Formats: sequence, C-alpha cells, structure tokens
Amino acid sequence: MKGLLYYGSKNVKYSEDAPEPQIQDDNQVKIKVAYCGICGTDLHEYLDGPIFFPKEGKKDKISGFKLPLVEGHELSGTVVQVGKNVKGIKVGDKAVVEASGHCSDRKYYKDTVEQNKPLCGACKKGMPNICRDLSFLGLGTASGGFGEYIVYGADHVVKVPESIPLDIAALVEPISVAWHAVERANFKKGQTALVLGGGPIGLATILALKGHEAGKIVCSEPALLRREFAEKLGAEVFNPMDHKDAIGDLKALVPETEGFDASFDCSGIPVTFSTSISALGAGGTAVNVAIWADKPIKYMPMCLSYEEKFATGSMGYIVKDFEEVIKALETGRIPLDAAKMMITGKVALKDTVSVGYKNLIEHKEKNVKILVSPSA
Ligand SMILES: [Zn+2]
Ligand SMILES: [Zn+2]
Repeated sequence: MKGLLYYGSKNVKYSEDAPEPQIQDDNQVKIKVAYCGICGTDLHEYLDGPIFFPKEGKKDKISGFKLPLVEGHELSGTVVQVGKNVKGIKVGDKAVVEASGHCSDRKYYKDTVEQNKPLCGACKKGMPNICRDLSFLGLGTASGGFGEYIVYGADHVVKVPESIPLDIAALVEPISVAWHAVERANFKKGQTALVLGGGPIGLATILALKGHEAGKIVCSEPALLRREFAEKLGAEVFNPMDHKDAIGDLKALVPETEGFDASFDCSGIPVTFSTSISALGAGGTAVNVAIWADKPIKYMPMCLSYEEKFATGSMGYIVKDFEEVIKALETGRIPLDAAKMMITGKVALKDTVSVGYKNLIEHKEKNVKILVSPSA
C-alpha cells in the first residue's frame, strides 16, 4: 500500500510498497483511511525523534513492532474488514480511532510481544491514558494513518454518524485531547475558562469548552492571526502584550468570581504557567495541556494554598472522550462549521513532508490543522 514510513529523525520516506497491515486477532478492525491530520507530535518525531517511536533496534513495548513504521494518529475512515469476534462495528461504517496503545493492548500482538506481563499501576486503576508503556498507533504501536489502511483493536474504534463529514471526523482525535483536559478540571456547564495560547491545542480547547457549554471563554494569545482564529471559534480574545497588569485585567473579565473557574495552559512557558494559576478565582483549577521541555521553573506552593486552587495536568485521552466529542459535534454543541475552520490545508500523501510538515514548521501562525488524504 501507499504509506509514509518513519525510520528516524529527518528520515521519513514515502513508499508505494509499504507493508499493508492485516488483521491478526479476531477482535481487530481494518479501516481504509480517508484523512489523517498532521500533529505537533509528528513534527517532533520528525525533527527530534524517535520520542514515542521505538529507538533503532528496539521494539515498541506494547506491540513489539520495530521501525520503520507508518506515522500518523489523527485519522478517520471507513471500516473494510472486521475480525470474527467484533460486535457493533461492521464493514462500511465510518469510524475514528482512539489511538493510544497500553498494557491491555498486548493481547493483540501474540506473535511479537510477551503476553504474561501484568498490567501497570495506571492501567490497573482504569487510567490507560497514563500507562507506563504508553504508545500510540502511528507512533510505534501499529502502522498509522499516513497509509492507506490501519488495523487496530475494536475497543479503540468509535463509529461516526453520517452527519459528520470524514474531514471533520479527523479532528475528533485532537479535540479529544482538549476534551480530556476539560474533564480533568471537572468543568461544569456555565463556568468560565481561560485558554492560554491559541495554537492548535488552544483552539481545540476552545471547541471542547463550547462542547461543555462554558459560560465565558477567554483566549490569551499575543499573535494576531491566532487571536483571529480563536475569536472565530467563539472565544473572547486578550492580547497580554497590551496590558501592564495582565492578571488584574484578565480577572476583571469575570468580576463575579474574581477570576476564572478553570484555566488551560496550552503554551507551556513560565509566564503562562503562573498566569494559569494567578488568573483563577478561589478554588479554581489550572490544567496543564502543553508539553514542556524537561526544565524546572519557579513555583510558589502558597499560590495554591491561599485560595485553595488546584493545579493538574492532562495526558492524552480515553475512548469516552472520543464518544463525547462525537456527540457534541452531532448535536451542534461544537458547531461543524467552527470545527471546519481548524482545517487550513489538505495534502496528498506523497506531499506530507515537503508541503504539510514544511508549512506547519515554517508558517506556524497561518496553519492550524493540515490533513493528509492517503487514499485519494
Ligand atoms: Zn496528535
Ligand atoms: Zn499500562
């Protein structure tokens, strides 16, 4: 099949002879990929990897697979084959894939990985998104969405109703990352939220907050083009560079609670971290969604204690997040046309790196989500 094979940093090759994944287990599903979004993680793997992908000569801890493997994890498509024990999913169904690979997925790879390894502590607790051996389809566990076909466990496959077009369905994965973060804040209908950063994750967070029927959503972002995107998606925007007392002015936007109910750091720099806590009202929750460099920053524990605030982080997603995002798109809580604005480009598979990656790396401001169409 056609596929984009990942060999290592700056070494990604388009092939018309990539290995086509086959159903190996009676509980797996095969999908013909319609669209697969390019994620910041794909760019990190390309520029500085392997990070999630196994290192050269090493095996993926869940599947036992080795490089090269097809990249891409934000996919939508049509079911073309189901294993004989699969129930509730049939050939012809439109679907998306919750792409994580964790302890309980080892059962799908009997030929390539040890079967009697016990579940890790997180998986035992029912938190597979923070599995000790966490990996993803398209990042090591299995052949990914920058290829014509994928095969994955049926318990990761979520059906998409006909009313959601497959290009918008490819956004369900990145919106689920944001949805999980909003869930981590125990966010309630009508509450107020501050989103720090208007990049792809920040914009997905605005959509997830709309899906949770947030009262007021404010997006703080210094770059004009990104503020314009955030505004189109329905957030109030704030340029921190225009304010001497940014914290005071942010809090003044929600006078009744003297600060936000929840905040989402989608930038990951020291000033957005401190703002995410300072701009909260009493008892508010700050959620880190950004991926930080491995460097310590200054932090004052009493900034939480004085007003009994919470600070937490969010990692990936679970199947329930996917189901809830699809419901929100289906019912219009996340308007389809707002979601569609996230798609700023579509490229053919062979142009993934030369056009897709290049535009996302060199013209960050103008691009949110570029979709690859492997079967076109
Ligand atoms: Zn992603
Ligand atoms: Zn685990």
